[in-house]
Amino acid sequence: MGAKFLDQTAAIRAGAKAPISARTVNAPVQRGSTVLMPNAASLYEPGQVSYGRAGLQPHAALIEALCELEGATAARLFPNGVAAMTGAMMALLNAGDDVLVVDCIYDPTRRFCNKVLTRFGVTTRYFHPSLTAEEVLALAVPATRMIVLESPGSLTFEIQDVPGIAALARARGILTVIDNTWGAAGLTFKPIGHGVDISVQSLTKYVGGHSDVFMGAALARDAALGQKLDEVVWQMGWGVSPDDAYLMLRGLRTLPTRLERHAASTLDIAAWLQAQPEVMEVICPALPGSRGHALWRRDFLGGNGLLTVVLTPKPQNAVYALLDALRLFGLGFSWGGFESLAIHCDPQLKRRSLDWTYPGPLVRFHVGLEGIDDLKADLRQALDAYAAA
Ligand SMILES: *Cc1c(COP(=O)(O)O)cnc(C)c1O
Repeated sequence: MGAKFLDQTAAIRAGAKAPISARTVNAPVQRGSTVLMPNAASLYEPGQVSYGRAGLQPHAALIEALCELEGATAARLFPNGVAAMTGAMMALLNAGDDVLVVDCIYDPTRRFCNKVLTRFGVTTRYFHPSLTAEEVLALAVPATRMIVLESPGSLTFEIQDVPGIAALARARGILTVIDNTWGAAGLTFKPIGHGVDISVQSLTKYVGGHSDVFMGAALARDAALGQKLDEVVWQMGWGVSPDDAYLMLRGLRTLPTRLERHAASTLDIAAWLQAQPEVMEVICPALPGSRGHALWRRDFLGGNGLLTVVLTPKPQNAVYALLDALRLFGLGFSWGGFESLAIHCDPQLKRRSLDWTYPGPLVRFHVGLEGIDDLKADLRQALDAYAAA
């Protein structure tokens, strides 16, 4: 019984021959798990895309764009920035290795080192970002395989001597990996040009730019390192959706324009904040006079929307009063979207390995694309709440 479906074959095959009807500005979103191979001999031929997990058209276009912007030879995409960082480390480390990590590293990277790498026989030691290249390399032992940098550091924005450390590390056969999320797809900093082996970025931040999509990328200096990244991505089974890759490509198109505005607004607000009585210090490497400014000027090509203030000493309830008074700045982790955000930093600073005491509480702001006078007014009334608490 039941209906007889005469068109089963047609339902499976119909429409497959429609020509691509128009050339669009951006690469088309190509969805697919199965990839049709041209003939039997090609099924097991190495060096070609034989399965969608390896990435299709939008992935290839995004990888090409990221390599071009950072001057990399190869790149792989990961589901988010944390996966890109941990993936790059897993691609290159072996049991028995020792890793030197800058102590201002993004906190989830620290957790991976302490909780996961230790289980696989890799030791991590942390060093202060203010060490010179010679002092960092003096910490290396024969088992040291990798130095991990993040410049500027998370929350407190210390600039490391990236070219100096990379050159000395290379001379000793030690790999360098950097978290270059701050560098906004290489627009403000190009680590590979400064001698770094692997440059990692969370595309979730400025490349996506709209706080609605996750992705990470690891970029390699040469083909051999690129091959190592390929293998770990393939063997661990990581992949990203074509729709998300498309959104990242779209974000890239407006990144220079957005970044210019973020950076200009941030410099203006940073200088204004310095004059507010509740602010002891503004940490913003692009701001003349800020800590890290000299190295930033030497190595970087531009600024972005991040700044951190050291407030005059007051208890935590005053910091809460400031944050809760903010109207335009949302309270949220992350940054790089079009909107302004704020967090207090002190709970995270306590998790660092070295001593990170400041004279007062730290609040990090991401300056978004809103009107600058509106942002200043919002900050001023929040500082009033701080002073009154
Ligand atoms: C946000 C961030 C990451 C992680 O990115 P996700 O895409 O959120 O996983 C890594 N490094 C830095 C410096 C970041 O700010």
